[in-house]
Amino acid sequence: MMAVRIDGKELAKQVRKEVSEGVKCLKASHGVTPGLAVVLVGEDPASQVYVRNKVKQTEACGMNSFHHVMDAGTSRKSLLSLIKALNNNPAVHGILVQLPLPAHLDSRDVIQTIDPAKDVDGFHSSNVGDLWTSGKSFVPCTPLGCLALLKSVEPNIAGKNAVVIGRSNIVGRPMAALLLNESATVTIAHSKTKDLPALCRQADILVAAVGRPRMIKADWVKPGAIVLDVGINRVEIADGRGRLVGDVDFEDVSTVAGAITPVPGGPGPMTIACLLANTLEAAKRAVS
Ligand code: NDP
Repeated sequence: MMAVRIDGKELAKQVRKEVSEGVKCLKASHGVTPGLAVVLVGEDPASQVYVRNKVKQTEACGMNSFHHVMDAGTSRKSLLSLIKALNNNPAVHGILVQLPLPAHLDSRDVIQTIDPAKDVDGFHSSNVGDLWTSGKSFVPCTPLGCLALLKSVEPNIAGKNAVVIGRSNIVGRPMAALLLNESATVTIAHSKTKDLPALCRQADILVAAVGRPRMIKADWVKPGAIVLDVGINRVEIADGRGRLVGDVDFEDVSTVAGAITPVPGGPGPMTIACLLANTLEAAKRAVS
């Protein structure tokens, strides 16, 4: 039997609808419009596309969008003073600095300057610490979206074996923390993990956040497992044009898995929807 296709576009649409309603309520009850500031340093084409989408969707759900573009040579001092100004601006409830930053800027240093109460990306160490100690933190948007996708097909995560491939601060580690908080038994795999296919075959929930096109094949996957594919990889197709694929060989793994996210149309759309949800939450906390 073919796996259930978990539709990230559809779930993201529902989340955006709920956020739009929440924005209307907040305006009506407190006269406050949530505001998201997005800071882009440099001209990385992929980052420009991500930022354009974020700005468009922020405005579409009735929030204010503050878009700051700085040139690639921006100094640490200028970037940090912009962040401090945004921290002090009451109209800004969420701050996102688009990563990666140019090499001369230390992203950790920049993230630590963001007020944790406005850190809607959930990357500040205070929010990371909260996540690992089950506190009320802002959770990084991609893993948050993955958890919602997972819960849409399996509400009972407790006791399941979960394997997360990838240990980045943006995806792998927070994903593992979220699954642990749901009482899954979690293993984090990475490039030094031995016999990864055998480890993956033990997973009831398999999350791939690696960045290697179609690495995970059907014989890595336990029959009936839920597979969440975070990877976004551009590969060349026959006519020389590009196409996006995940870390999972979707067609192959669909023959074995119980449910699977596609790429595109899986965790990708959920990432921005969760960013909007985090921004609304930041605005609600600011008025409470
Ligand atoms: P990173 O490059 O930061 O991390 C990749 C991880 O994969 C590392 O932990 C690395 O291990 C591990 N890895 C690399 N090769 C192997 C291998 N052969 N076997 C096992 N593990 C391996 O990437 P990100 O976490 O930032 O992103 C991962 C993927 O997700 C990318 O394709 C990215 O584009 C995509 N992404 C998608 C998002 C979305 O919105 N859907 C958002 C963010 C990312 P080690 O630590 O040992 O080097």
